[in-house]
Amino acid sequence: MSNDIISPRHALDDAARIYADRRPRSRALAREAALVQPGGNTRSVLDFKPFPFRVAHAENATLVDVDGFSYVDLLGDYSAGILGHSNPAVRGAVERALADGWSLGAVHEREVLLAQLIVDRFPGIDKVRFTNSGTEATLMSILTARHHTSRQAVVVCRSAYHGGMLYFGHGGEPLRAPFDFVFVDYNRPETVAAAFAEHGSRIAAALVEPMMGSAGCIASQPAFLAELRAQCSANGSLLIFDEVMTSRLSVGGAQLRYGITPDLTALGKYLGGGMTFGAFGGRADVMQAYDPAAGGGLTHGGTFNNNVLTCAGGIAALTEVLTAENLDALNSRGDRLRDRLNDLFAATGADWCATGIGSFIGIHPVRGPVSGPDELADADSTQRDLLFHHVLAAGYYMAARGYIALSLPVTDDDLDGFMTAVEAFIVG
Ligand code: PLP
Repeated sequence: MSNDIISPRHALDDAARIYADRRPRSRALAREAALVQPGGNTRSVLDFKPFPFRVAHAENATLVDVDGFSYVDLLGDYSAGILGHSNPAVRGAVERALADGWSLGAVHEREVLLAQLIVDRFPGIDKVRFTNSGTEATLMSILTARHHTSRQAVVVCRSAYHGGMLYFGHGGEPLRAPFDFVFVDYNRPETVAAAFAEHGSRIAAALVEPMMGSAGCIASQPAFLAELRAQCSANGSLLIFDEVMTSRLSVGGAQLRYGITPDLTALGKYLGGGMTFGAFGGRADVMQAYDPAAGGGLTHGGTFNNNVLTCAGGIAALTEVLTAENLDALNSRGDRLRDRLNDLFAATGADWCATGIGSFIGIHPVRGPVSGPDELADADSTQRDLLFHHVLAAGYYMAARGYIALSLPVTDDDLDGFMTAVEAFIVG
């Protein structure tokens, strides 16, 4: 597509070589890292070929690498970086918290306020507990549901990602938590009905993302979520929404947007203002399992569950920045960008499409629309990598898999520039 003369494979080799030659410092650091970190990193998704640039400095929506290249950051830390890299409200709150001392080993005021803010926002959360990551939050949600229902099985979608130990795509099995899973297909309500018809009496919970994030920003059809809600209610199972990513789709998350209330919700990413964060919460009668005064016998540990920097950052983010207005504006901006991309693909006849909801955008080398992960299975990964290197060379950073999570400091000018870069790639 981008080149009529040399093959896409050769074009990608050329792009990777030019990229590498311009970044001697990042290349040297990649070699050093590989000596002490398997794969040269400690978060596999951050790797890309030939080696990832290493960030020296970040401000607002700009990343600057150790070789001096600047990028408009359209990845936004895979959605955790919604505030950008230097939000003054969060920075001030964290600095004030540092002045009060950290690693307390005791309860403190800030954790109560953060919990109140979260309970106030999400319709499905009466009570909440904090964790250190979204992975812990989804694991704890499953375990809580199993305890509540005294059942074992968990309904999940093929190809879903619910954290490092709950990946149901290709290659996820060796590191998958060994629960009893029942598989359904995303956006196929009939597979949900069939799963409950066969296994209903042993299903503790159904765990679902209201938009499949990692699998390609595939929006849920309301009928699919409604079927999950109905089947869980009819069978005495709990519905768990994994809103680690989607909670930013409105002030009350995707659950408010879709008007479907889960029994448990897993949260993560940006809600700690960019500090390490996770949380799970839900119906009071389910969460009382953690309340000794209400007869609950479960203990839930975690040295850093109430760490003061996360609580301070989260409070500042929720009270000062992530208002309904700001979130809605960001999501509208994402909708406009997706429309512009799809208009470009339609006008040029390109076999590409842009998926997602609001500020989440997936760009795929297939014709849309896309309603399930199977429709992306045959996407040409060379074309995807070519687009990634093309926009990177123009100064725009997104995930190599074609994923964008807009952050608040990204400007319209940034998006105009990005569109120009994508258009140049598509038109060739
Ligand atoms: N669930 C979803 C939908 C996610 O996207 C992620 C992370 O990307 C997780 C869970 C896990 O969160 P964490 O990386 O904080 O463990």
